[in-house]
Amino acid sequence: MTRILIAEDESSISAFIRRGLESAGYATTIVEDGADALEIALGGSIDLVLLDVGLPTMDGFDVLRLMRARGSALPVIMLTARTSTRDTVDGLDAGANDYVPKPFKFDELLARVRSRLRETTATTAIVITQGEVALDVRSRRATVGGREVDLSSREFELAEQFLSNPGRVLSREQLLSTVWGLDFDPGSNVVDVYVRYLRGKLGAQHITTIRGTGYRWD
Ligand code: CA
Repeated sequence: MTRILIAEDESSISAFIRRGLESAGYATTIVEDGADALEIALGGSIDLVLLDVGLPTMDGFDVLRLMRARGSALPVIMLTARTSTRDTVDGLDAGANDYVPKPFKFDELLARVRSRLRETTATTAIVITQGEVALDVRSRRATVGGREVDLSSREFELAEQFLSNPGRVLSREQLLSTVWGLDFDPGSNVVDVYVRYLRGKLGAQHITTIRGTGYRWD
């Protein structure tokens, strides 16, 4: 049975989410602080994490960073009342798969949960290789010419899009919606910033800028 960890310190909210998820057929575990969330998320019995940002002992961003630093690729949806771009970028940079601002309708949350779980099980390829660059999708490791390169979780996902679509022009909007998975401000330069990071790590020659459109992996 699919088990969802609800890390939320407001019991009225966690009870509301639990009721909805259980009636949709999911098992749930509720924790109220960040340290417990981290321990249970790394424990191996969880399929997806709903992570509140404002948690006691360790906030949601730190929980997420530590999960990713310890190699967990579990899908994580952040729950937050904060709407500033800075916090959104921080959350995404820390490796969140999605972001649901409070207050939300349960149906909206459920749709995101289903879609994130579907993506996880749909991953079939294990290693994607283009020239000297290889991505091991399961262990989230990247290598260039056999040498391991340290990519953040967001950088890895962006690289995965490029290597899965060699020679194809990918627009900023496409990359925002597939990699960042939310309605980002189309004026945001987050894609350009991450392309710059990837060029630095994988080699500048691989990613060509298509003026006014986006990028292409060559
Ligand atoms: Ca909270």
